[in-house]
Parts: sequence; structure tokens; C-alpha cells
Amino acid sequence: LVASMEEVEQTYIMIKPDGVQRGLVGEIISRFERKGFKLTGLKLFQCPKELAEEHYKDLQSKPFFPKLIDYITSGPVVCMGWEGVGVVASARKLIGATNPLNAEPGTIRGDLAVQTGRNVVHGSDSPDNGKREIALWFKEGELCAWAAVQEPWLM
Ligand code: ADP
Ligand code: MG
Repeated sequence: LVASMEEVEQTYIMIKPDGVQRGLVGEIISRFERKGFKLTGLKLFQCPKELAEEHYKDLQSKPFFPKLIDYITSGPVVCMGWEGVGVVASARKLIGATNPLNAEPGTIRGDLAVQTGRNVVHGSDSPDNGKREIALWFKEGELCAWAAVQEPWLM
């Protein structure tokens, strides 16, 4: 009941090229599905350099920035929009710490990754960035607002 008073948020989750290459797409998507969030957008996409640079513009001055852009553009990524109450912070918990060696077992990075530079998944760090990133990665018409069907499928 307390949670229902909180705002419904949007977050941008992306399976990075290593996650796609390693065959972890289904494993990662299922963690967000099973948690109970709603999928609003989904596509496999080869990211152009300019988009990767815009997405990570806050990290432009970091020494690892060029390698980060090479990594994100090295192969297709899976772009996703997820919606729900508290989804931004909850998704970050499901993902785990940036450095997979510090990520708790049970988290995506804690279970599936070793290197910070190959940490398999991205998640927005604030509701504002969730909106910004979904607008950046998806075109209008690629997102679906949908409600769960109430009708029984088996009678
Ligand atoms: P997060 O993805 O957990 O929000 P950041 O926003 O700090 O982490 O960094 C974005 C991404 O940049 C990380 O997920 C990781 O792929 C990469 N990155 C961050 N720090 C480093 C680093 N020290 N060396 C190499 N890559 C890094
Ligand atoms: Mg970040």
C-alpha cells in the first residue's frame, strides 16, 4: 500500500554487447520479468558511435571513455524500457555494483560478470535519466503502453 502511493517510473535497461555475445539475453530479461516490472520497449540494435557518446556524455572526461565507446559499439545491444513503481532503484539493485567483483551474488553482475569494462548490463541511475535515455534510444512508435489482460486464458 505504501508502494502504491509512490510514482510509476521508467528506466532504460540495456544488455551490452558482451551479454548478447555470451547468450545471456534471456537470462537477463527474465530477471526483470520475474521481479514484476512491465516491459515497454525491446529491440536488438547496433549502436552508432554518436549515440554511445551522447548516452555516456557525463563520463566524457574519464580516461576509460574511448574504451567504453568501443565496447558499447562493438556489437549489437538489447535496448529495453521497463516501467514500475520504484523501478529505477530496484533495477540498479538487481544489476549490482559497477565493478562485478564488488557486486553481490544474486545480482546480474555478481552472478554473470567479472570485469568493470565487461559488466553486461546498463541501468539508468535516476528517474530523470530513465526518461532521457528511453527518449534517446527509442523512436516514437517503438514503445508500447499496455495493460495486463484481466480475462482468464484457461477456462
Ligand atoms: P554504472 O553502469 O554502474 O551506472 P557508471 O555510470 O559509473 O556505472 O559507468 C558506466 C559504465 O562505464 C560502466 O557500467 C562500465 O561499463 C564503464 N566503466 C565505469 N568505470 C570504469 C572503469 N574504471 N574502467 C572501465 N570501464 C568503466
Ligand atoms: Mg551509470
